[in-house]
Amino acid sequence: MQAAPGAGVVRMFRWGCLAYGAALEVSRGAQLVGTGLRSRVIDTHCHLTFPEFADRLEATIGLAEQAGVDGLITIATTHPDAARALAVARRFARVWSSAGVHPLYADELEHDFATLRACAREDKCVAWGELGLDNHHAEPSKAVQLKVLHAQLELIADARSAAGAGAGSGAADRIDKPVIIHCREAFEELVPILRASGIPGERFVFHCFTAGPAQMRLVLELGAMLSFTGVVTYKNAGEVRAALELVPLDRLMVETDAPFLPPEPRRSERPCQPAFARITAEFIAKHRGVAWEAFDAQLSANTRRFFGVA
Ligand SMILES: [Zn+2]
Repeated sequence: MQAAPGAGVVRMFRWGCLAYGAALEVSRGAQLVGTGLRSRVIDTHCHLTFPEFADRLEATIGLAEQAGVDGLITIATTHPDAARALAVARRFARVWSSAGVHPLYADELEHDFATLRACAREDKCVAWGELGLDNHHAEPSKAVQLKVLHAQLELIADARSAAGAGAGSGAADRIDKPVIIHCREAFEELVPILRASGIPGERFVFHCFTAGPAQMRLVLELGAMLSFTGVVTYKNAGEVRAALELVPLDRLMVETDAPFLPPEPRRSERPCQPAFARITAEFIAKHRGVAWEAFDAQLSANTRRFFGVA
């Protein structure tokens, strides 16, 4: 959203100990969500390093906090972006980062995997990714996307094994963090690649799931987690909702992919705000027929188990 947030938004953030519900006030005085109940929702995938948020980080995080969004994971798309994301995570107590090369950035730079590994070693960096395959766009070529994907899976598998930590170093150098997967129109191709990587299926999350039940079954068989954006709220997303109905509640997470994909009824707003993760969470709870408190607790448990943050 473009409106300037209230003065109270910019301050030191003490996440998780604010008043919720009646205190929900977002810019323009609009009520963000309907229940007015406490929330521990974490936006598990947003891009705070994108230009849309460049000079409004405090305000963006403040809006999320006011909406009861209790933390954010800012996701990297390249190795310099992983370093930037880590720097943002270090600035805010309830922000974490990831380290990886997005498939649509696969041809942008000469990738520095040592930087990715150095970021991934840090406590505030809680995941690898996002990485994967995107067949929706013709560029970068499939060959380039595959090369960068395989290089990263090898890096991650190597980092997971203490033996791969290098001469003179020991188990302390082992990095065992979950992997955020970007998969667009590539499920049949990507799932077998992930299975062959040696990384356990339950260590992957398919972020922004926008396919249907057939693709969902492939991901569920792999053992991966599923994360949904505002797309699941869109009128024309019946297939996505049909897929959502197949997911065991303990394998679900929510995200915004901000600055993209705002949920209904805020779909026309730019940029999408991490605050909107709560709208998507409430939508899913309702769609699955789960009481908010129970759903919120389940999401929180899932996020803690998978990313180690809660
Ligand atoms: Zn993303």
